[in-house]
Amino acid sequence: MSDVIEATKSETAEVRVVENVVCSFCGCLCDDIVVEVDDGGITRVRKACANGRGFFTHYRPAPRQPSVNGQGVGWKEAVAEAAQILNAADSPLIYGLSSTVTEAQRKAVKLADRLGAMIDTTSSVCHGPTGLAMQAVGEPTCTLGEVRNRADLLVFWGCNPAVSHIRHSSRYSARSKGMLTPNGRQDRTVVAVDVRPTASTRTADIFLQVQPGADFDVLAALRALVQGKEIAMETVGGVPATQLSDLADRFKTCRFGVAFVGMGLTQSRGRDLNVSELFTLVADLNQYTRFSVIPMRGHGNVAGADQVLTWQAGYPFAVSFARGYPQYGPGEFSTVDVLARGEADAALILASDPVAHFPRAAARQLEHIPTIVLDPMPSLTARVARVVFPTACYGVDAAGTVYRMDGVPLRLRPALPRARPTDEEVLDQIIEAVM
Ligand code: SF4
Repeated sequence: MSDVIEATKSETAEVRVVENVVCSFCGCLCDDIVVEVDDGGITRVRKACANGRGFFTHYRPAPRQPSVNGQGVGWKEAVAEAAQILNAADSPLIYGLSSTVTEAQRKAVKLADRLGAMIDTTSSVCHGPTGLAMQAVGEPTCTLGEVRNRADLLVFWGCNPAVSHIRHSSRYSARSKGMLTPNGRQDRTVVAVDVRPTASTRTADIFLQVQPGADFDVLAALRALVQGKEIAMETVGGVPATQLSDLADRFKTCRFGVAFVGMGLTQSRGRDLNVSELFTLVADLNQYTRFSVIPMRGHGNVAGADQVLTWQAGYPFAVSFARGYPQYGPGEFSTVDVLARGEADAALILASDPVAHFPRAAARQLEHIPTIVLDPMPSLTARVARVVFPTACYGVDAAGTVYRMDGVPLRLRPALPRARPTDEEVLDQIIEAVM
């Protein structure tokens, strides 16, 4: 009997195969995903890693109602309530932006401008220090395509891509095969720098175990060694000077080196000064060979959020329009600080889940002020929000533009027909509705 059902199913079910779909879950934005779809939704996802498969299969594309105070309402009613909250606020805050597309990010900046609001992205809790370092010393960077085709020395500093960016190694870095690296992993030397062994340090050729908080010291020592100076100490930040000296030589003599920077560097003691020191080391190395740096951006379009805010406001995150023009204030207008100090009296959270990730004092403030959430997935922030818009999921059933971690823009190719309004459409309506 079950054979008959299977046979009938296979004869009648029309499976559509969509190729070259972009996975917008993480900053790798793999654009070779194959998604199989029938009229019941996504049936199979090929080539994606476990994180990417979850992204495609956990989304339920059925139409859903927005809610106000937990009660289902129509989209117009929810827009009116959101506009009323924002109009009544003296100091509104817009936060998130990293898991939506640039088209919606532009609308979020427009809304902030219209309201005189603060606007901040998830960069302020991940690669904000990288943005400050870019402004301070510049960013000597390249594309992931150049890494794949040319790089023979890779440094992973304070990141664990084996867990966070699972296909980074096979598509772009350690194990990928390129024009000048036809043998893949055999053609590259991989250096991992971290405070403890991780899945990524275990597969590296060289592991530098740095004492927590000592990254700046190690980077300064490497800069001195690259410049031909001697170090009198036997160890720096827990790393033997002989190992640092060997590394400095490898850096200077490689064909093309690339350093990938993670939150282990940006969020440890020294923060933007750590990243500035690494950027300066990379700039120094270009006197001897070719060397670049790429921040390991986490959320799918967090790099796009920085881009859009910089185009529109001149600054990448932590911006206030309260004075009628954009003011930049990391620490002053960063969302965690603003919420912890109780300085926002309403919040619009776009495509992120701060209640799940923020320190307790900041997260709890979102329960006390009226909060509006736009998110395709259920989240802890949506649970405490007054207004929730269950929008379409960009990359699965909505199109848009996203920026890869190396700043390359890609167009999303949705596999499913759209059943809900997008973030961009909802923001457009809120902009229309606010005074
Ligand atoms: Fe998606 Fe990132 Fe996995 Fe690529 S590495 S499939 S972009 S989650």
